[in-house]
Formats: sequence, C-alpha cells, structure tokens
Amino acid sequence: NILRPIQFICAVRPPTACVIGSGIAGIAAAIRLACKGYTVTVFEKNTYPGGKLTAFMQDGFRFDAGPSLFTLPHQVDELFELAGENPRDHFNYQRLPVACHYFWDDGTFLPAPGNVEGFAAEVERTLQVPSQRVIRYLEKSRFIYDTTAPVFLHRSLHKWQNFLNWETLLGVIRMPRLGIFSNLHRDNVKQLGDPKLVQLFNRYATYNGSDPYQAPAVLQSIPHLEFGDGAWFPEGGMHSITLSLVALAKRKGVTFEFGQTVDEILVKNKQAVGVRMGTSIFHADVVVCNSDVVPAYRKLLALHKAPEKVLRQPRSSSALIFYWGIDFEFPELNMHNIFFSNDYQEEFRLIFEGTTLSSDPTVYINITSGFQKSDAPDGCQNWFVMINVPGNTGQDWDALISLARKNILSKLSQRLGRHIEPLIRNESILDPRSIEEKTSSFQGALYGSSSNNRYAAFLRQANFSSRITNLYFCGGSVHPGGGIPLCLQSARIVADLIPNA
Ligand code: FAD
Repeated sequence: NILRPIQFICAVRPPTACVIGSGIAGIAAAIRLACKGYTVTVFEKNTYPGGKLTAFMQDGFRFDAGPSLFTLPHQVDELFELAGENPRDHFNYQRLPVACHYFWDDGTFLPAPGNVEGFAAEVERTLQVPSQRVIRYLEKSRFIYDTTAPVFLHRSLHKWQNFLNWETLLGVIRMPRLGIFSNLHRDNVKQLGDPKLVQLFNRYATYNGSDPYQAPAVLQSIPHLEFGDGAWFPEGGMHSITLSLVALAKRKGVTFEFGQTVDEILVKNKQAVGVRMGTSIFHADVVVCNSDVVPAYRKLLALHKAPEKVLRQPRSSSALIFYWGIDFEFPELNMHNIFFSNDYQEEFRLIFEGTTLSSDPTVYINITSGFQKSDAPDGCQNWFVMINVPGNTGQDWDALISLARKNILSKLSQRLGRHIEPLIRNESILDPRSIEEKTSSFQGALYGSSSNNRYAAFLRQANFSSRITNLYFCGGSVHPGGGIPLCLQSARIVADLIPNA
C-alpha cells in the first residue's frame, strides 16, 4: 500500500527522450518530441548550441560561422506553429531581391534577381541566352522538385509502406523525366548551351556538397528552391534560426546540457535505453542521435555491428573559410557573391580526388552587413570568404591554406580592381580539421555523404536503427541529407516515426 502512490507516479511519468547533439536537426527533433509529450534532454559536447549553425564576433564584426543561404523558411515557422506559437512573434526573415552576384575573370558580371522572370531577363541581357530557355529550365527544376520531394525528402525511404501511395506511383511514371539516370553537367550542357550558364547551374551541386560532373541530373531540382521559392535572410542573421529554436525548445520544457559529450549509446536487449557520459548514465525511453553517423557507429555504438556500406559512402566536400573584417565597402558586392574559376571541371576533380586544391578556386563571399548594418563598423564589410575543398584525410592543411589565401587574394584583387590584403582588419579561419573538431562531422564534410551517384539517397543511414529499437537518427549525415531544409526534414521524419507519449 505504501508503494502504491509511487507506482502510480511511475505509471503516469511522461516518457523521456534524449537527443545527442544540438545541431539544427537535434533542436528541431527535441521540439517535436516535447510537443508529442516527451520529457526531452539534449546533450551537447560544445558549450553552445547549433553545431555548424552558429556565429561569433570579431573586433566589432559579426559573422555567421557556417550556413549563409536560407531557403524554405516555412519549415522553421512550422515548428513554432506546432508548438502553438505565432512564428512572427519570435522569428522573422525577408526575401532577397537579388539571389547572387556572379563574376567571371573575363569581366562578365551577372546580378541574378531572386525570381524566375527577372533572372531569365538578366541572363538574356548579360549572356545573350534567350530568356525562354532559362524559364524552361527552371520550370523543369520545379517539376523535378515537386515530383521527388514527397517521395525522397518528406518520408523515410526505408519503410516499404511509404512506397504504397499516389506520389510514389507518380514519381515512377515520371521517372524518365527526372534526370535520375543522366548526368547533371551533360544535361545542363544539352539544355542550356552557354558555358557560363552551364557553370552557373552546375554550381547548385555544391548545395549538397556534390560534384556536378558526377552527380545525377535530378539535382536540377535545387535551383527551384532559390528562384521559385526564394532565398531569404533571417533578421539577426542565420544564427537567429538556432537561437529562436533553442528558446522555443526551452519554452516547451526541453533541457539543454552543454559541455556534455556522450561516449556511448546504452543498449539492452537490442533496445536503446539511454546514454553514458564518462561515468554518468542517463536513462531514456527514446534516443535520438544528431551526431554524424560515422562517429556515432564507430564510437557511441562501438560494441555493435555497423552498416559498413552506409559508412563507406563518399563524403561531401568540405570548406575553407576566411572570416575577414574588411575596411572598405564594395558597392558591387551583394549578400551572396560568386567569383567563378576558369576550369570548373578541374577544380571539382581536385576536390573529389582529395589531395590538393585548385590554384584558381571558385570563391564565394557572403556579406550580411549590407542588409544588417550592425554586422560591421561604419564603412566596413564582414566578408565570409569560402572555397570548396576536399574532406580532411590528413593533408598538410597549413600549407594548403596559405597557398589558397594567396590565390584567393590575387583573384579577388584583380576582379575588384583593388588590393584586398591591406583592407583586412582582422581574420579567422575555419578548415576541414576545425569543422570536424567543432561539430564531429567526419572528415569535416559539410553535408554528410555526397550525392555523386544515383544510389546515394538509398545508401544514407535511415532515420531509425533496424537493429536497435528506440534508436533514431537525424541530421545532415542521414536521410534525406545535408543542408538546413533537409536536416529539418530529418527531424520531422524521426518525430513521425516515434509514437505519441
Ligand atoms: P551539426 O550542425 O552537424 O551539429 C551536430 C552537433 O552534435 C554538434 O553541435 C556536435 O557538437 C554535437 N555532437 C556530436 N557528437 C556528439 C556527442 N557524442 N555528444 C554530444 N554532442 C555531440 N546549409 C544550408 O542550408 N545553407 C548553407 O548556406 C550552408 N552552408 C554551409 C557552410 C558551412 C561552412 C558549413 C559547415 C555548413 C553549411 N551548410 C549549409 C550545411 C548545414 O550547416 C548543415 O547541413 C547543418 O547545419 C547540419 O546540422 P545537423 O543537425 O546535422 O548538426
């Protein structure tokens, strides 16, 4: 009789969930599980949330450290709505009128408006390619996205029940038109003709860290996101996605434990029962792993059989980033800027061969201070200068970085007609080694595994473990892939797989 109240309390105790990692997918999964009635604790090895989606200050300049392009913002809104809140009270963003400024070494400059008609007209004016050709290409982009997203992105690919529906049947009927069996670069050449326009659209393969010369043409779906749905900028910068969602998670009762490295996922009778940090044990009914799947299997599940084929998939590209506080304002630069290389194919060959870097890399510069004045002191700009590089396999990065810095400065100085180096007030650097160290991303890959072959989607880790019950996976290295929108999708799929509390 004395035990009865305790038994009653135990019986009605809400089930507990723990999330390993507070990347964007981990935070979103935590919110979704809290909304389902779970008591959720997030363990994060860093002292801050966000993983790759974080920010820092550098002598009066604010920098978003990782992602700079924000698409499909309604996916963030959806989390507030799920929690019964009005997103506009907590998180705001605006559509960018100009998607990107494109520069070529021969002096060609293409300011790309962030909508289909405006962009097509600008391409016709600058590159003399008929606007109708561009419109047709972007219509096809939308068609591929609309057909493939419900099948490949919105649900688990690893549950046969998910294939018994009208959308999948439609996907099968339309298969020959989706570009699954053709090559992205070759298809772009066929459809677009003009080499500069081909290079511009080849670039979208980098949005999930892939090689346009190897990847299937189904990646033609990506430009639709930017020109059809739009590129957006969150008020406060990209970091406000992390901050506003962490605040929402806390309002829903989620506990964040920072500075806590999970060493092991505890399994009993083929069931995940919690996690271990050093000598301390945390019991949970459900374990959601937001860590990269390679260290997850190699370290956290070291005693269990690993899906070797999944772990052997080629990784996506990594990045080398220089964060420069620039003592000047270049009016020709927008928020997103690309300075193309002269030999794109050779550049990607080197990235995916993995040993060295091109001496003429394509340079991306992100500048937010034009939109958000407080991001840089008066008369200055905050430059996030990035090139795509191979993953970390032990190259001599210090030597590669110093050479890349020289090449980037020379390219930008020539194209912008002004010596850049004397304008750099302050600098910090992120490279594949530090990406790996800060986020546990295997080899410093930005997007988990690459989409360089047509089977890539099927060879990503599923959102659940088929061997260990109550163990789930979310984040850029698992289905449906990397980048903020897909990471948010992975959290949604995980929550859909877990029963209500
Ligand atoms: P991650 O951000 O990888 O975070 C995982 C978290 O788990 C980390 O905080 C890590 O510390 C923690 N963790 C791991 N293991 C453990 C453990 N054992 N115990 C405790 N904690 C652990 N995407 C876009 O959409 N647009 C862009 O413009 C874009 N640009 C990018 C530029 C750069 C330089 C980088 C690095 C990435 C970019 N991406 C972009 C990709 C995007 O940032 C990622 O796909 C996404 O943020 C990954 O989120 P995630 O949920 O997988 O977690």
